[in-house]
Amino acid sequence: MTRMMGVNHATSGAAVWFAATAALPSLGTDAYPLSPAGILSGAVVCAGAALLPDADHHSGTISHSIPVIGKLVARSIEDASGGHRHGFHTILAGALVTLLAVLIGRFTMPIPGLGTVPIGPAIATIALICFAVKARELVPSWTAAWGIGILAAAAVVVFAPDNPTWFPIAVGLGFLTHIAGDLLTVEGVPSPTWPVQITPPKLWDRTPVLNAIWKRNGYISVPLLGHAGSWRETVLGAALGLYCVYAVVVVVARAAHVSLTALG
Ligand SMILES: [Zn+2]
Repeated sequence: MTRMMGVNHATSGAAVWFAATAALPSLGTDAYPLSPAGILSGAVVCAGAALLPDADHHSGTISHSIPVIGKLVARSIEDASGGHRHGFHTILAGALVTLLAVLIGRFTMPIPGLGTVPIGPAIATIALICFAVKARELVPSWTAAWGIGILAAAAVVVFAPDNPTWFPIAVGLGFLTHIAGDLLTVEGVPSPTWPVQITPPKLWDRTPVLNAIWKRNGYISVPLLGHAGSWRETVLGAALGLYCVYAVVVVVARAAHVSLTALG
């Protein structure tokens, strides 16, 4: 196992989104206030986006999404970015993907009875949520995963926040969370300056500990989790999963409270 498990990437993406938007009780304020439905749909998009960087690995979750085409897409990303954990695990790729999400977010269409429908985010959500669901092995087949993706996209169409910035923020946050997760493993990620790869001087390279943080090939790592797929990674993934459950309860309870107050 040389890469962090998809399920842990997806969970950490959702957890970071919840922390930013809804459930940081210690702060008392929300960094980015949204409606409860907007928070939940954003969390799923963020979880899906947290799987995106591994599209550069042709055996990754994304390459299995659609027969043949998924593998072709993953392989061309892998080639363009120089292989797994290279160019698609960088700040530059994160910026480009976020920019793409800004453009996708602009595809809206007025539909009678539904108002202005976010067509672009809805289509992107089908793909992203399908990956997120499959990565968690929640469903046995890709057909079921695509079905859930389409249902979730329908929810996005109905519940999407009015604030048009939610989509690129969820995508960018998820993408960066993935890179941060891989940074915590021994394998590390390319230096933030990619495609310029800066390598350490010889003396650094000969020093234990230091050469594990800034590697001979220019990769950087803060290996708190040990190797990808370690028990520490599993423990962190489980803790983040529990936090997500807590956050969903907080969001739903808050929504129920608001509607009860409105009724009373
Ligand atoms: Zn990765």
